[in-house]
Amino acid sequence: MLENISERLQNAIRFITRQAYVSDKEIAEYLREIQRALIMGDVDVKLVSQLTENIKRDLKEAREEYGISIKDRISYLTYKELVKILGGEKKELRIIPNQLNVFVFMGIQGSGKTTTVGKIAHYLRNKNVKVGVIAGDVFRPGAVDQLKQLLKDEIPLYSDVSKKTSIEVIKEGIEWARKLGLNVVLVDTAGRHRSEESLMEEMAQIINEVNPTATILVIDAMIGQQARVQAEAFNKVAKVGYVVVTKMDGSAKGGGALSAIASVGAPIIFIGIGESIDEIEEFDPVKFVSRLLGKPDLESLVKRVQKISKEEMLRAQRMTRGRFTIEEFVQQLESARKMGGIQTILSSLPGGAKLGKKEMEEFFVKVKKWRAIVNSMNKEEREDVTIMDSSRVRRVAKGSGTSEKDVRELIKQYTLAKKAVKKISKGAFRNLPHLRL
Ligand code: GDP
Ligand code: MG
Repeated sequence: MLENISERLQNAIRFITRQAYVSDKEIAEYLREIQRALIMGDVDVKLVSQLTENIKRDLKEAREEYGISIKDRISYLTYKELVKILGGEKKELRIIPNQLNVFVFMGIQGSGKTTTVGKIAHYLRNKNVKVGVIAGDVFRPGAVDQLKQLLKDEIPLYSDVSKKTSIEVIKEGIEWARKLGLNVVLVDTAGRHRSEESLMEEMAQIINEVNPTATILVIDAMIGQQARVQAEAFNKVAKVGYVVVTKMDGSAKGGGALSAIASVGAPIIFIGIGESIDEIEEFDPVKFVSRLLGKPDLESLVKRVQKISKEEMLRAQRMTRGRFTIEEFVQQLESARKMGGIQTILSSLPGGAKLGKKEMEEFFVKVKKWRAIVNSMNKEEREDVTIMDSSRVRRVAKGSGTSEKDVRELIKQYTLAKKAVKKISKGAFRNLPHLRL
């Protein structure tokens, strides 16, 4: 499935991983290769350029982020963006318990409706759902036989070849399903019509009269990004509840179909991957992309990146939650050793980013002094250091046994740090240089 795209994507990632140093040039080359791979897979050009733009932007923002190498980050962002264009989180068929759920299948002829009805029926039965099928396609003479073969006497089927309209058959079928006490009934419909218009007309009529729990639209992967047009056309007639994309096994355009449908906002729940009854898969964008990128370790990478990002957020939040008074400033510095790093605050100090071990020691001696100074300030001064005029500075220096120069330095450093913290709360956190302690 999508071997070509997969190979190209994996090659691109391998290319970037092999580089000793990743500069803008390599990133540009990498992104071009990703674009080529996706466009080859019939993914809409707009979606593709948006995807690579997002990766570029996030990379720029994250450049300075510590703990994650640029290569890991590129893999992670590629993964993240691919999952996004495929619809994000996994969606599931919702079955309301203790009542009959009616799912009406829609789709043009040959898209794989009847086959998919059979596949989903078995899938549900294997999950111990009481499921049945209604043969609502009264146009095709062989349709009932096709269903009988697919269901293999294992799943109850309602059919009536003597009736004229499919609506009559479907309505009676629903009564039958109710009497049987089924939890789910799948309604196969006809895809062949004189024109697309008359197909849509009949669909609208069925939906109107039957009022199903949801509709399931079946789309052939072969049509690639045209899937968008088709999904939108059906959506006009009857709200598309779920989508199944069939023939993912044989089509190089599957990625195009999936992304096009996801961009309409229709939840893809299954993909068909062959003609046999069990060749259907729950569609999970995360797993799908992991396979596409051939990275079994991707999951752990993702967790690591997310964890680090979360820790950073929390740290920033902790610092910005309070108003960041001079008291808090000194407290943060005091706990720096214990915490193993308060990179941001220290790096906001002039020369902070270059401190070695010896300088660190000197620095902590200074912090002790600052603690004495803060202790000598009154509450009003601690709340707002801008009121510190020269007579207050003199008083505090005296009281703390330090010099006026020391007091002024603390105020200056605190003011700088406060500015940095403000920047953090505006999201500029990533761009600050970091100091490792
Ligand atoms: P319908 O007209 O929409 O009911 O389509 P059918 O269910 O009759 O399927 C049309 C053809 O597509 C049949 O030959 C199926 O075997 C085939 N088909 C359906 N789903 C898949 C799939 O996921 N993979 C492959 N390779 N063939 C499929
Ligand atoms: Mg059919």
